[in-house]
Amino acid sequence: MTDTNVQRTLVLVKPDGVRRNLSGEVLRRIEAKGYTLVALELRSATRELLAGHYAEHEGKPFYEPLVEFMLSGPVLAAVVEGHRVIEGFRSLAGTTDPTTAAPGTIRGDLGRDWGLKVQQNLVHGSDSPESAAREIGLWFPGL
Ligand code: GDP
Ligand code: MG
Repeated sequence: MTDTNVQRTLVLVKPDGVRRNLSGEVLRRIEAKGYTLVALELRSATRELLAGHYAEHEGKPFYEPLVEFMLSGPVLAAVVEGHRVIEGFRSLAGTTDPTTAAPGTIRGDLGRDWGLKVQQNLVHGSDSPESAAREIGLWFPGL
């Protein structure tokens, strides 16, 4: 039977994850869950790209530190495919705040927020089908 709930989501391993050599650990968890990598690229973000990516947060107190953090080193960008992967990856990632994210999740196990201007929670995952389509278009325009 055809699975009508197959989706694509944009995942980023943020600069903290790449710096801490956790890219493989994030990809391991994604693949172990049974999701498929459709595109994968290590690259440096630009202000322009981040302005589009984080447009919903413009004007919030954490916006500028967030952009600076995302420019602080390379990012691993991935398009991941699978059954309800948009929700599924958010579940693997855990909630935004690493201190309270559940143990067993990427952010709960590995994220940090103490003494930092912005939560260094290792990963980004699209939060809805609309966001996924928009974000995949921004990071992988050819896809
Ligand atoms: P996400 O979808 O779980 O990544 O969270 P959001 O889209 O709400 O926020 C984007 C990113 O901004 C988060 O992943 C954090 O890195 C950072 N962030 C969000 N909210 C806060 C906050 O209240 N304080 C700080 N310091 N950083 C935040
Ligand atoms: Mg978000």
